[in-house]
Amino acid sequence: MEITHLGSGSRGNATLLQTDEAKVLIDCGFSGRQMERRLGRIGVDPKTVDAIVLSHHHTDHGQGAEIFHKRHGAELFANFTTCAHLGLDPVNQCRIFESLERVQVAPGLSVLPVPVPHDGAENVGFIINSGTNQRAAVVTDLGEPTDELIQHLKGCAHISIESNYDAKRLALGPYPPSLKTRISGRGGHLSNQQTSELLAEILGPETHSVVLCHLSSKNNAPHLAESEALFRIEDWSGDLRVSTQDGPEFSHWVGQGEAEMITL
Ligand SMILES: [Zn+2]
Ligand SMILES: [Zn+2]
Repeated sequence: MEITHLGSGSRGNATLLQTDEAKVLIDCGFSGRQMERRLGRIGVDPKTVDAIVLSHHHTDHGQGAEIFHKRHGAELFANFTTCAHLGLDPVNQCRIFESLERVQVAPGLSVLPVPVPHDGAENVGFIINSGTNQRAAVVTDLGEPTDELIQHLKGCAHISIESNYDAKRLALGPYPPSLKTRISGRGGHLSNQQTSELLAEILGPETHSVVLCHLSSKNNAPHLAESEALFRIEDWSGDLRVSTQDGPEFSHWVGQGEAEMITL
């Protein structure tokens, strides 16, 4: 399976999973035209996307889902709350999934939605299985890692996880106090330090690659997220990358022996 972030951050998120049999998007947080443009850059015809799996309803994850579904026919998968918030018809437009029940989203590709705490949304992270013995994870928008999530992340060959803000930049930055409290609270996002501490707890030899994603453009910078992570996981020898708003920039492979990465 090939994993490519088409872009990641507070202005939009979408991640493409590709196997020989299937193409699936995790989130569709760009306009229809942006999605087409970004897929076009890696030579993917939007009509060949089998499914879109939504983590939650926030604009930066769901804004392009309905239009993409209507234009290109990709099947939509979401939990009931996300479906309702996006105004989608749960019978005719959306296949509803439950947390912690594995969902077959395309031939040979299934996801396990794991609930995470986040701001008025029923957000889930995804543990992805493409029929090999290697799993991958894509998890963004959570206020704190739960024990359940930690158990599922352990042993994944690839982990894409948010590293949203630098605590100092957030504290000194332009946001009003109420928003600062929300971002750093249990319903907000993970700081660079929280993400790094989580990675230090879960990373082992089975994990070949990690992508830090959903960086705040105002309260973070790629070098801050990366250096914080490297500081805490210096014993881990896998590939660490940072995904930015303007992807796609690189892809990772899992499930064919050693995981590998190429720059696009
Ligand atoms: Zn969100
Ligand atoms: Zn988000």
